[in-house]
Amino acid sequence: MPLHVIQHPVVHDALTTLRDARTPPEVFRRMAVRISLLLAAEATRDVPWEPVTVQTPIGPADGRRVRAGVVVVPVLRAGLGMLDAVLELLPGARVGHIGLQRDELTAVAFQYYSKLPGDLSGSYVLMIDPMLATGGSAVAALDMLRAAGATDIRMICIVAAPEGIAVVEQHHPDVHVYTPVVDHGLNSRKFIVPGLGDFGDRLYGTA
Ligand code: URA
Repeated sequence: MPLHVIQHPVVHDALTTLRDARTPPEVFRRMAVRISLLLAAEATRDVPWEPVTVQTPIGPADGRRVRAGVVVVPVLRAGLGMLDAVLELLPGARVGHIGLQRDELTAVAFQYYSKLPGDLSGSYVLMIDPMLATGGSAVAALDMLRAAGATDIRMICIVAAPEGIAVVEQHHPDVHVYTPVVDHGLNSRKFIVPGLGDFGDRLYGTA
């Protein structure tokens, strides 16, 4: 599986604030937007574009426009914290939603919602899910994208565990994964160590 570990210092500055247990939800949300924007910029280096010409006040200039066909899919609920940032970069993207909830005891993901644009074949798909932990929900979501026809998929996360990377690699070896960091591993409750805690709870203040 192509794994892209993003080393940009500004990404890691934001990640450090996200990790800090003292960071309040309003700052956490802001940092989630900042880091997502930077990660999405890295992940979309090969987004399809077409040449255009615009008129500056002085004369014609060659330019590029991102082609239609980009689909962004946040995995609910935590992925919503990354969505606005990605849409800031790709305002013309269509948005699908996948709702997966982790059982607190077994850490197994079950699907409670799905609404994807029609046929995804030919789409450039960006799946956003901040915590790649066991890989269970990532694989479930990727399975759903594949079932909808997607073949060209990138996944952006904010913290990854080696266990999750291995599971995604096993089931979806062609999916490119973008993350700033691969942490030590999972604890007995399947939280990433050191991670940043429960992303959704910290984002929405529901801890
Ligand atoms: N989901 C989270 O929000 N945090 C983890 O550490 C693992 C899964």
